[in-house]
Formats: sequence, C-alpha cells, structure tokens
Amino acid sequence: MKKFIYFFNEGNKTMRDLLGGKGANLAEMTNIGLPVPGGFTITTDACSEFYNHGQNIWKELKEEILLNIEKLERETGKTFGYGENPLLVSVRSGAAVSMPGMMDTVLNLGLNDETVESLSKIINNERAAWDSYRRFIQMFGDVVKEVPKYKFDIVMDKIKEEKNIKTDLELTTEDLKEIVKRYKKLYTMEIGEHFPTEPLNQLLDAVKAVFSSWNNSRAKIYRELNEIRGIKGTAVNVQSMVFGNMGETSGTGVAFTRNPSTGKKEIFGEYLMNAQGEDVVAGIRTPKKIASLEETMPDIYKEFLNICNILETHYKDMQDMEFTIERGKFYMLQTRNGKRTSKAAVQIAVNMVEEKLITKKEAILRIDPKNIEQLLHKNFSIEGLKNSKVIAEGLAASPGAASGQVCFDCEALKKVKKGILVRIETSPEDIEGMNIAEGILTIRGGMTSHAAVVARGMGKCCVSGCSEISINEEKREFETRNIIVKEGDLISIDGSSGKVYLGDIEKTDIELSGAFEKFISWVDETRRLKIRMNADTPKDCKVGLKFGAEGIGLCRTEHMFFAEEKIWSVREMIVSNTPKEIKQAIDKIYPFQKKDFFEIFEVMGGKPVTVRLLDPPLHEFLPKTENEIKKLSELMNIDIENIKERLESLHEVNPMLGHRGCRLGITYPELYEMQVKAIITAALEVKDTGIEVNPEIMIPLVGSQEELDYLRNRIEKVIENIFKSKNKKLSYKLGTMIEVPRACVVADKIAEKADFFSFGTNDLTQITFGFSRDDAAKFIKEYAEKGIFENDPFVKLDQEGVGELMKMAIKKARSIKKNIKLGICGEHGGEPSSVEFCNKIGLDYVSCSPYRLLIAKIAAAQGEIKETK
Ligand code: PEP
Ligand code: MG
Repeated sequence: MKKFIYFFNEGNKTMRDLLGGKGANLAEMTNIGLPVPGGFTITTDACSEFYNHGQNIWKELKEEILLNIEKLERETGKTFGYGENPLLVSVRSGAAVSMPGMMDTVLNLGLNDETVESLSKIINNERAAWDSYRRFIQMFGDVVKEVPKYKFDIVMDKIKEEKNIKTDLELTTEDLKEIVKRYKKLYTMEIGEHFPTEPLNQLLDAVKAVFSSWNNSRAKIYRELNEIRGIKGTAVNVQSMVFGNMGETSGTGVAFTRNPSTGKKEIFGEYLMNAQGEDVVAGIRTPKKIASLEETMPDIYKEFLNICNILETHYKDMQDMEFTIERGKFYMLQTRNGKRTSKAAVQIAVNMVEEKLITKKEAILRIDPKNIEQLLHKNFSIEGLKNSKVIAEGLAASPGAASGQVCFDCEALKKVKKGILVRIETSPEDIEGMNIAEGILTIRGGMTSHAAVVARGMGKCCVSGCSEISINEEKREFETRNIIVKEGDLISIDGSSGKVYLGDIEKTDIELSGAFEKFISWVDETRRLKIRMNADTPKDCKVGLKFGAEGIGLCRTEHMFFAEEKIWSVREMIVSNTPKEIKQAIDKIYPFQKKDFFEIFEVMGGKPVTVRLLDPPLHEFLPKTENEIKKLSELMNIDIENIKERLESLHEVNPMLGHRGCRLGITYPELYEMQVKAIITAALEVKDTGIEVNPEIMIPLVGSQEELDYLRNRIEKVIENIFKSKNKKLSYKLGTMIEVPRACVVADKIAEKADFFSFGTNDLTQITFGFSRDDAAKFIKEYAEKGIFENDPFVKLDQEGVGELMKMAIKKARSIKKNIKLGICGEHGGEPSSVEFCNKIGLDYVSCSPYRLLIAKIAAAQGEIKETK
C-alpha cells in the first residue's frame, strides 16, 4: 500500500516535493538533532489523492492518520483527546514552494471541555489553558469552517467592553471561560452543529481544510503572481504542540539568521513572552527585538544562536525560523530559506562567498534576475524631502520610495493610476491590492508581519506598524497628528526610513552598493553573452552605460522622430508623392538625424552602435485628428482635401504587415540613403574629435537575399561617395534584422550579404504565430486563463516554435559565415528565460532596454553556469 504519511524522523530535506518545504525541513532538523516537537507529515501525494476522491479523506488515509497519531501518543506519552496528559497538535500546511500566509494553520487541536481541564493542571495555569482553548475554537471556526474572524473579534471586544479592559492580557480565567462559551454558541449558530469535541474529527476536518485551501482564490492568485506551476499540492504537518503562553519563562518568536532587509550578518527578529505564535505576526501586541532575549533569558539566547549557526552551515543559506520556549525549554518549529529584499539577497550571497559557505557560481544562481529591478528603485530626493511634511512614522519594512493616492482597499486601487494601499494590517486577501499598489502602509504589525514579508518578496515599498495613524473605514479617511487624510489624497511613503509624508515627492536615481558591484563583477567574469542596450537617445545611452551596456543593439531611428518638432518632417515625407516633395522633406530631416547620431556616437565612445534604418508602421505616424491634418496642409502648402486623399491612399488594412521596414527603403531609397549619409557623416565627425566610433547599419524586416542585396548596393555606394568626397574612411558593418520567418529559412543566403544578424523576436513572434502585435493582448490573456499558453510569447520567447526558427537561422548562417555576429534585440532580450535560451543557442549578444541590462547580465551568467555544469 502506498505510504502517505512520514514521521519526522523518516524524511529529510531532499524530500521537498513529497513533504513540502516545511515538512522536509522539520524532518531534517529532527535528523540533525535539533529540538523539534514530534510529529508527522501527510504528503503532497495525499493532497492530489484528496482531489481524486472528490475532496474527501478516504478510508485508508484515515487509518494511516490514526496509526500515526497512536505512534505520536507512544512517543510523547500523551493521549489524544482525553486523559490527564492530553496530546495537542498543530496542523499546518506546507507546499514544496513556500507561500507565506497563503495556507492555513490550526493550533491547539485536541482541546475540548475535558482536555482543557487536564491541560490547566499540567501547566498549572488555568488561564493559559483556557486562553489556548478559546484560540483553538476561533482558529478552527475561522480556518476550517470559514466563520468570519471578525465575528469572533466582536465577541471578544464585547467582553472587554463589559469588563472595561483594553488588552487581552487583562482577561481573567473566568472571562476566557465566558469567551469559550460564547464562541461555541457563535460556532453553532454559524455552522448549524455543535463544536466538535472528538479530536480525531477535529483533525480530519483540519486536514481537509488545509488540502482544500490549496485551491482557494488567495493561493491561486499567489501561485499565478509568482508563476508557481507544476506543484502537486500542499502537504500537512501534524505536530505535537508546545506552549509559549505558559507564563513568564515561555514565549515565542520568529527570526532570520541575517537581516532580510539589508543582508547584514545579524540575528534579526522579534519575540513575545507568554504568547502563542500568531500573536507575533498578527501585530496585535508589539513584539520585542530578538537581541533583548539575551538579557531576558541568556542561556536560551545562547542556545538559539548556536542553532542559527548550525542551520546556516547546514543549509548554506539565510534561515527564517519560528521557535517557541516552553517553560524555559527551547523548541524549533520551523526553518526555511528566508525571503529577502534584492539588496539583502546580493549582500548575503556576497558575504557567504567571502565566508566560504558557497561558491561564486552558487551565489550567482541564487539571485532571481527578475527581482534585481528592486535595486533600481528610486529614493526621495533630498530637496523633495526638505519641502515635505512628515505626518507619521512606522517601521521601515521594505525599501523604496512610493507616492500615490490613499486607497483603503483593492477596489479603490483599481480606480486610480497610482495608489498607496493603507490598511490596519494586511492579510492574504489583500494580495491582489498589494500587487497593484505603488506601496503599502499598515497601522499594525512588525517587521515580520504579513505586509512586511509579502512586500519584501514583491520588492514593493512598505511601511508597517504605523500605529499613530487611525483609520476611519466608514468615512474613508485616516487621522494622524491632527491631520485628516481622505481616500484619494496624495501621500508618499519611504520604506527605507519608515516615514510617511503628505503629497507627492520627487524621486532620485538609485545607488548601487559595494556588494552589488562585486556581485556584478562575478557575473561579468562568468557570462559569455555580451549585453547591449536598445537605446534611441543620448539620455537612454547614459543610463545604459551606467549599468554596463557594451554597445547599442538597436537604435530605432523612427523613435528619434517622436519629438514634436521632428514628427512633422516625417509626416511630410510620408504623404509626399512627387520626388521634389520627398527631397524637400528628407532635406529637412537630415540635420536632425545627423545631430542625433553625432551625440549618440560621442556618448558611446567606440562601443558598437547598431542603427536600424527607418521602420515605421505607417499608422503610428500618420496625422489622425482634423487639427493635425490642417497643420500638415499648412506646412506643405497643400489643401486639406488633397492631404486627406493622400492619407486615404496610404491607409493600410494591416499596417504591421504593410509598407514598413526595408519595403519602405526599397520604395523610397532616398530615405535610407539620407539616413546612411547622416550616420556615416556623423561618425566621421565624431572620429575627427578623437573619439572612436563603431557604426553598424541594420536593415529591418528583410525576408529575401534580393531585398538585402538591393539595399546593400545602394548604401555602399552612398558610403563610398562620402569617403571619396571627404577623403576619409572608417570601418562599419552592414547587417540585417531577422524578423520574418522566411529570413530564417533562407538565412544562409541572407548571410552572404550580411555582416551580422539581429533577431527581431517581436516581429518574428508576431509573424510566426500570425498574432498581430497590436491586437494579441486581448486574446492571449484568455489563452493563459484556459491553460492553452503558459506564457505570453511576446514576453517569454516561444522556444518550441520561434526558438526553433532561430536555431535554424543560426545553423544556416554559420554554415556560410562561421563568424557572423549574431544577436537579439526583440523585447525577449531582457527576459531571463529567453536570455538563457539565447546563450544556449550560441548568440553573441542580447540587447534590451537600459533598465533591464542587469537582469540580462545575471540571466546570461546563470545560463552559462547551467550550460557548463
Ligand atoms: C522586433 O521586431 O523584435 C524589433 C526589435 O523591432 P520592432 O519592435 O521595432 O519592430
Ligand atoms: Mg521589428
């Protein structure tokens, strides 16, 4: 019979897929001799089976659970659900990939009217026993039976009001007994049956709830946002309870072995004495910093530090731990690789290499290139801060600077352009809102609260625990320092200082740390692929150079015309229909072009610059409104009707497949000739100033050797003439984009006429799939929802189709020209999995937008490490 349950001493850390992360680590800690309360894990296979059984616990699983409970009874010397020494358990979910806050936990399971009395005797603390009981009923009701949590809170608040007390700690045993009574009544009213007193039923219901929660909407959204796929389900961990609420020598806490915000090597965390787990993360009581445990319980603190060291050396990574102290005895309840900001991730990886815990290659593989964007978050400018009013201060929970309109929920966020999510505390239900918010501000909760942990994972700016703010949900406003801030008002939050400001604040560019520079130097010495940028202006070039761009892979000349004064000359040119008009328009454009190229060559100082000749899908450029048409008629001195007729004749049914790219160069050769003249003249002028230049002229949308040949001949003539007339020379390259499928098929022929290829995978994807770039977004979303596509092929390169075409083109091209330079400049050049693919198929470089250069570099290094493994 298949085994669905593993006792902690039967598993190990390699069994993540089967036992989930939590289960595998509990097993591992048990095996290396750490103090872990006993228990067992119901496997992820059981979760799949649960769904095969119509979401029911089937007979054999029930029997196996029973057998393991009996084993746990024998091991602990306790009895489940009755007797003088009752066994109480926690039930927690744990999938193979950690999903904080997504799945549910039930503590103190096994309590009923009988065992609560025994517990109170054993721990000699009647109050703590009844407190545990009331927590259990609440958690069971909320998590297992979905009785809204606030209904329990109302009961509790009512009693506090009746007794005229403020905090939970002031509740007496009698109060707690009364709460238990009222909770049970609430439960019966909501569920229509009595609260279950038989612990096995409690357990089976809880297991069922955990399995079911795998498919609740929060879990699904989390998996979708984090692209978690191919996991069978969650495991369930059933563990004997230890109590942090047994008086002043008991407590509970959460801690990281290093600072998850900055990466500094220091124990970082919080704890509460005389409390149970959820008190620390829920933000109801304000926890103490972990360092103060050294004074409160020095021996325990020492033991804890020792365990931290053992775990880090064992896992070779920063750990995120949960622990409980039960009457002076220390227990580990959980360990896992901790979530961290990107800044911390880099710092920790670099430190661990220096501490000889991991190798440079391991360090590189640890950084998720996508998250590196976090490091590029802006800060508030000093000037901007000077003029801004601090209206509150909380905890600096996740770095970054954000401004936006106050929104109290996800619905409000959806209605504004930029919103700051302001909540008393966040819960997994807020995940969607947190994802679309610019930043997150919470009133309650510490550095390890849900908001803080999730925001750090998302790389989103967050200020938590900002208790001086009080929210009035009804009026949709908050009050702080005698100021009323209404929903929709602008605020700014600083996740690095914890400060909240009124209004919008200007932001500055980012600064990268020393550790980051070191890390990138390792990346640079590891990667084979060169990294270039797609840049059309000197300003973009400067940003890209700062991030280490090794050249320009795509300068879209049509983008140079987007500026107001230039676009009119292009419009003139497009609607021209006599050679004279065309020449007039082109003559107007030439000086702009030459100036732009001069500046770009100057900034790029000898690095290769690929300039693509004009490729304007006409619909992006033609005048649309009456006013625009009127202006064009004035500029060209042609009457409006005539202009309209010309526009009519230019209208294309399918502009993306129309008169663009090299087709335009063939029908308006003067246009490409002017551009080439501007490029080469500018390059010669820059060279004259003593700066090196390395121009590469690129022709778009080529599908046949003849197209390229025709244009190459004309372009070469123009260049020869310039060289002759100026009596100067420089070396240049002339190549083509490969962006129509036919070009891949005849790549050997095209290669005869090209010095380089650059794959334009935007168009190559469009034409290979036959999906219009302009319209596909509408239906691709539905493809993803229906599971037809895992990814949008315009975002992640379709390796199976488009990728095969690229491979074919590479093979054919290299069969003719062994050393032909090959690159990619479609959007995929900045997407990690696509960059890895480009490395694998042997491209020489990838080109992407300046802000994605670092992502591309890291992905390139990771790809190379995986290739050479
Ligand atoms: C491409 O098609 O991939 C490309 C880079 O060109 P554009 O996006 O300008 O069409
Ligand atoms: Mg293209």
